[in-house]
Amino acid sequence: MSIGTESNPLKVAIVGSGPSGFYATEALIKSDFVVEVDLIERLPVPFGLVRSGVAPDHPKLKQAIEVYKKIAQSPEFNFVGNVTVGQDIKAEDIQKTHHAVIYTCGAETDRKLGIPGEDLLGSYTATEFVGWYNGHPDYRDRTFDLSHETAIVIGQGNVAADVSRILAKSVDELKHTDISQHALDALADSKIKTIYVVGRRGPAQAKFASKELKEFLEIENCRPYIDPKELELNETSQQELEMKEGRGNKKNVEIFQKFAESEDTGKPRTCISTFLKSPVRLEGEGRLEKAVFEINELSGEPFNQSAKGTGETMEIECGILFRSIGYNGVPIPGVPFYDRWGTIPNENGRITTEQGGDVVPGLYTAGWIKRGPSGIIGTNRACAVESVDMLLEDVSKLPADKPGREGLYKILDANSVQYINYDQWMKIDAAEVTAGEPKGKPREKFTRREEMLAIANN
Ligand code: NAP
Repeated sequence: MSIGTESNPLKVAIVGSGPSGFYATEALIKSDFVVEVDLIERLPVPFGLVRSGVAPDHPKLKQAIEVYKKIAQSPEFNFVGNVTVGQDIKAEDIQKTHHAVIYTCGAETDRKLGIPGEDLLGSYTATEFVGWYNGHPDYRDRTFDLSHETAIVIGQGNVAADVSRILAKSVDELKHTDISQHALDALADSKIKTIYVVGRRGPAQAKFASKELKEFLEIENCRPYIDPKELELNETSQQELEMKEGRGNKKNVEIFQKFAESEDTGKPRTCISTFLKSPVRLEGEGRLEKAVFEINELSGEPFNQSAKGTGETMEIECGILFRSIGYNGVPIPGVPFYDRWGTIPNENGRITTEQGGDVVPGLYTAGWIKRGPSGIIGTNRACAVESVDMLLEDVSKLPADKPGREGLYKILDANSVQYINYDQWMKIDAAEVTAGEPKGKPREKFTRREEMLAIANN
């Protein structure tokens, strides 16, 4: 019995309903095979980082959801929410029910700095702060002590830009976004006056997208600033800016120049970018009081310059600090994992037993858990297409007899799992939009799983 026909559709389970999960679904639906896709999600709500990661004041980026909603209308698509693979169902059980499984579960945790004092009270990860202001149920009950005047953000990527911007903006600038109410209320009482955004390399190596950086010039309440001396570049960095690959970095340096020239007009907050500093330890009696940095210099070839400590240190007193130095994947029991990179080992999307090991038939991966946390939302489309192409090449080698979603439901029922379908998510969606209306917000998200399930089951 061949796979991918009306009588035996290609039955694929996808684990994780963020961008790469939806793009993998789309690629399967567009293929020449008859397919059935079950998109399994740990939360009762779909869209992964587009819902819980993209900053609330970036509604345009969230428009990707409209594309995913269209994909979800396809008859081949089925949403299975509120199911944690490895907990509610074993990974190996899904291999038994479906011809193929694609893991698109993203990079859910943060990288560690590995310095003394990292876990002091007052030192937080960007992951938890972002999850908190975006209403992710895992972070709903986190508290952030915003009663201090100085905050530090470590890292100079787009997540650091998001975190700094949310700290810098006034409540008026945020109140008509889909930021969660508990976060808006806490930010309303924030006493933060100065935000240091600290990079271990120089202004020419900062990973911000120029568009994101430019936004700091428009924040009502906050002056972006840089000490002009910090913009003196070494020769290699100057070369980088003159090269084609350095176009984005050159734009960034031009924007930094504007920060350096910005006038002090008495705005209540200042966001200071500072460079060539690596955190070496966080200090404080019971809670964070200061961060100690080693001053760096750069060495290496253009676009490959690394930061080397000079032995000289400096300190910044602060009451709150966010580590925004990149994400890491979380292993799923029963699925191979490469600890060093925080990814699932794979060859172009085909999962392997270990890094460089043999291919595991029927298992695939896409998105950040496949290649690490890089790129923009759209980058995941090409990544998912590559993995689905591998899967489609392998179809004739896969065992043909699989029960698909009926088998999946049987196991979930036997395990007493309260899974939800796409129509139930749409009820949650509608209720969120309705709850946002009186506040002039696009939606007020439910932030607790029980609330979501209550609406879904109503
Ligand atoms: P990222 O872009 O990789 O930036 C990580 C930052 O942390 C870099 O400045 C890096 O410095 C620094 N860093 C890493 N290890 C460090 C250490 N041990 N000590 C000090 N600094 C360290 O990661 P991200 O900001 O988490 O973003 C993840 C991905 O999501 C990126 O592709 C980003 O563009 C994307 N994203 C996009 C948007 C958007 O499009 N609006 C918004 C958010 C996120 P080095 O450069 O020296 O390594």
